[in-house]
Amino acid sequence: MQFIDPRTFLLVANLLGMLCALVLWVQARSFPDDIDGLDDWARAVVLIGCASGFASMRGVLPDSLSIVASNGMLLLGQLLLIVGLQRYSGRTPVWRPTLDGIGALMILILWLTYGSHNYQGRIFIMGLAHIGFFSVGAYLAWHAAPKGFGNRFLSVIFTLGVAVAIWRIATLPITGNETDENFDRNLIQQIYLATFSLGVLGLSIGFILLANERLRVELEFMATRDPMTGALNRRAFFSRAEVEWARALRSRRPLAVITSDIDFFKKVNDTHGHHVGDQVIKDYTLRAGQMLRLSDSLARFGGEEFVILLPDTGLTEAKQVAERIRCEIESRRAKTLPAYTVSLGVSVMQGNAGQAADLEALLAEADAALYRAKQRGRNRVEV
Ligand code: GH3
Ligand code: MG
Ligand code: MG
Repeated sequence: MQFIDPRTFLLVANLLGMLCALVLWVQARSFPDDIDGLDDWARAVVLIGCASGFASMRGVLPDSLSIVASNGMLLLGQLLLIVGLQRYSGRTPVWRPTLDGIGALMILILWLTYGSHNYQGRIFIMGLAHIGFFSVGAYLAWHAAPKGFGNRFLSVIFTLGVAVAIWRIATLPITGNETDENFDRNLIQQIYLATFSLGVLGLSIGFILLANERLRVELEFMATRDPMTGALNRRAFFSRAEVEWARALRSRRPLAVITSDIDFFKKVNDTHGHHVGDQVIKDYTLRAGQMLRLSDSLARFGGEEFVILLPDTGLTEAKQVAERIRCEIESRRAKTLPAYTVSLGVSVMQGNAGQAADLEALLAEADAALYRAKQRGRNRVEV
């Protein structure tokens, strides 16, 4: 190792880790509150950085700092990584048993340092702790949402951490004990510490990627959805509908649109209050959505008016879908909500003959049909 001094390497890795901690800390402040765990990670990275800094100063600093305090910080830092991941995944972190475990380990470390002077025993104990924490980390990261590069990357780094800890334990027999420690300290242990810091750097980057990916998914959801019902908003509907329109024209397949409006909704609001009105709108979104295929899109155009886009669907089929929704809403009611009905209008663009000139015209046709349904007594489907 003449070309890289492990201590320099460790220092650089730790400094980069601190920069990552800064990024995590800034993200924790600026990201939406439901993306949690970022500040736990920032703290964890700082703790682990200090721990490996202290550990690399063995012989310079007193043992109480370079061994006892550094191992304690290392364990707490790893706990915070796990706690952060748990918070990120919406789980409630369990502190108590792990803190007790860390306390027990620290007593053991104290004994191995000052009592039995067992260097190998100490490394063995710490190695086991790393394996435990990193295995849990790999598991949590693998199941963290959203699934993508970030969570895979994080999980792989945790798994590599487990591998390195196993390697460290496996190389214990050739490590020698306290008397040869001078030699060992300058090589295997330093390399181990440096790998560890590099690993923590990798973990931080993985977690940053994961949180960014989550933010992107949330922003995309917010930009395309109606916040109350989770149905598509007008803008998202049109951008989908335009794609489907072009596809239908090219492949000469039909494209259907169903508009719907809840009947006498003002009465629901007046009799039961606005809150119940909102519940009815949500109930309608849920139950109408259940009647649709995966490729269909349900959008809320305002109030209690919804539009459904059904690609590759002809007139008979679209009418059936509308009738199924009408029937479902009429015949089954949620226990806590007033009974209500819905009127629907259907219009279809046949892929070949150009009846409706464009999307707007198709929607206008469906709206006209809906108007007729209202005129003819409501709770019905018109084409
Ligand atoms: P019709 O059968 O002709 O559709 O009668 P209607 O009473 O349903 O008439 P209309 O569709 O015009 O009524 C829409 C009402 O919906 C007006 C408004 O007070 C109410 N509304 C609009 N948006 C919301 C909302 O987000 N929540 C609630 N609770 N009410 C809403
Ligand atoms: Mg209405
Ligand atoms: Mg209306």
